[in-house]
Amino acid sequence: MTEKTHQDLLAKYAEAIVKVGLNIRAGQRLIISSGGTRGVPHQFAPLVREISKAAYAAGAKYVEAIFADEEMLRIRAQHAPKGTFDIYPKWQISALKEMVDNGDALLSIAGANPDLLGGLDPEVVGQMQRAHLENWGPVSEKVSTNAINWCVIAAAGDAWAQKIFPELPVDKAVDKLWQAIFETTRIDQPDPVEAWNKHIATLRERALYLQSKQYTALHYKGPGTDFTVGLPSGHLWISAQSMAQNGIAFTANMPTEEVFTLPDRNRADGLISATFPLSYGGTLINDFQVTFENGRIVKVTAKQGEAALQKLVDTDEGSARLGELALVPASSPIGKRGHLFYNTLFDENASCHIAIGRAYRFTLAGGTELNDEEFIAAGGNVSLNHVDFMIGSPQMDIDGIAKDGTREPVMRQGEWAIKL
Ligand code: ZN
Ligand code: ZN
Repeated sequence: MTEKTHQDLLAKYAEAIVKVGLNIRAGQRLIISSGGTRGVPHQFAPLVREISKAAYAAGAKYVEAIFADEEMLRIRAQHAPKGTFDIYPKWQISALKEMVDNGDALLSIAGANPDLLGGLDPEVVGQMQRAHLENWGPVSEKVSTNAINWCVIAAAGDAWAQKIFPELPVDKAVDKLWQAIFETTRIDQPDPVEAWNKHIATLRERALYLQSKQYTALHYKGPGTDFTVGLPSGHLWISAQSMAQNGIAFTANMPTEEVFTLPDRNRADGLISATFPLSYGGTLINDFQVTFENGRIVKVTAKQGEAALQKLVDTDEGSARLGELALVPASSPIGKRGHLFYNTLFDENASCHIAIGRAYRFTLAGGTELNDEEFIAAGGNVSLNHVDFMIGSPQMDIDGIAKDGTREPVMRQGEWAIKL
């Protein structure tokens, strides 16, 4: 057996991204970008080229990529004059909006330096982050309503790889991260597209089971966690594959292991302890606990990064409330690796998680038709933020609570307790 070269694996990855992730339709256009760094870092060009080839092979009529030099963001934070950090490249938003309005596919590539803005003036970083979130709002809204087929994937950036594997020289760290990406996205399997189709079918069955139960709340119990969260009527359990408003079934995240739904923004009570650190805006928030009352975060404590966590929660009204509940077994391929990736795309698939901030409209029946006020009235949450953090562990038990108050085990010891 000959070993697959990196180039072969990149081509397989590109094919799975185009066929499973985006499910590009003949005649569609594709735009490739990376929001956080205002463009795809140049070092990912070899992957972008493979994706372009795969997209044209699938019938795409035009592929565009916005590239950027991530260091430029750091240079700006260090050298630009005070009071200028609300300036934003609005042309990028116009470009993305124009393509989204045209029904084109959107691919976002994660993998930039997670510490790009680390150690800089937190005021400046906060202002830049805020300008990004505000300007990106119209794009986020299109994405969160599944207006088009979209997908987020990762590439092994140098700085990111070195953060995960600091004991290795950079080239070895990058190789090891690519290997992790290919394993967790099933690209190392003989037929990755077929493996994905099977995986998607299993996740869909779990989501359908939970949907049929119509729980009114979930109760989480584990070390440092005793927490009840409501599920509003009309909540939808979603898994890997979704239907876009342009009629295309797509898989928004690669990898993905989660089954998730909408929490009630007004019904969350108790204490929850994070089981993995959270890397947010270049700061590591570690060993932290969050207390909820009537859906609102009333207290945060952290051994490390407490000020950053408080700042995140204080961003806006919705940042103190929940926007997502996701169930992932502790034995997921990412959880089993046992290390942090410092990237939500991977870390959120390591264990059960919750997100503070914006809820996805598509997790509520008819939610994509509602304006902000109507969505909030139905129990949904609106915010500039959507930040996931891990709460699951091999010690976590979760019960589903039915409307008549009866309880059923959903997860035990971090694993699914429901039989399909
Ligand atoms: Zn999630
Ligand atoms: Zn999330």
